[in-house]
Amino acid sequence: MDAALQRRLIEALAGAMIDHADELTELDRAIGDGDHGVNMKRGFEAVMAEMNTIGVEPLPQALRSVGTTLVMKVGGASGPLYGTLFLTLGKELPPEPSAADLARAAGVALQALKKLGRSDVGQKTMLDVLAPAQEELAAGGDDLCARLARRAAAAADATIPLKAIKGRASFLGERSVGHMDPGARSSSLLIAAACRVLEVA
Ligand code: ADP
Ligand code: MG
Repeated sequence: MDAALQRRLIEALAGAMIDHADELTELDRAIGDGDHGVNMKRGFEAVMAEMNTIGVEPLPQALRSVGTTLVMKVGGASGPLYGTLFLTLGKELPPEPSAADLARAAGVALQALKKLGRSDVGQKTMLDVLAPAQEELAAGGDDLCARLARRAAAAADATIPLKAIKGRASFLGERSVGHMDPGARSSSLLIAAACRVLEVA
């Protein structure tokens, strides 16, 4: 991938988390401990601080660097999960990935997240956005970026009526119903940010 595009992509991901930190924290305040936005902002600020190296590494290495930084800096449940997502994409993707490469790598990453989180789709977590997004990627075809962003946003909305089965929100049982899952929202924001950059590339 072209170095300038790679840089814009990583900056867009970081910008989405930094700009929406308050919103993510608010969502986590409703059904968690109110730190998701702060966690993600801290992680992506650390990524931005390393941009001079990450920006010029080959894409697979850059993704692994992002993953390592997120594991170290985000903390909570989401740090290891998002860290693993980027580490796995970095391990699985070639330097110049096609949409099909991305779909395959996302499939491997999804399995890694399910294993790490001992979780699955339908439990009101980030997986409820990441899994349908992977499905959309795998379907391929026209307008993939726009479709992907729409599907991710709809999937995040669809976590509102769910009862949390995993993570801190599960402690609330029925009271977790009626709120969007913070990790689902951050996943949808990251996907939308990536799509905006890659769509016009
Ligand atoms: P913590 O819950 O430790 O405070 P965060 O607030 O940063 O961590 O992240 C919470 C988000 O992490 C949840 O909204 C959910 O999407 C995701 N999450 C938590 N536990 C799991 C799990 N076991 N599997 C998948 N995702 C999870
Ligand atoms: Mg939290």
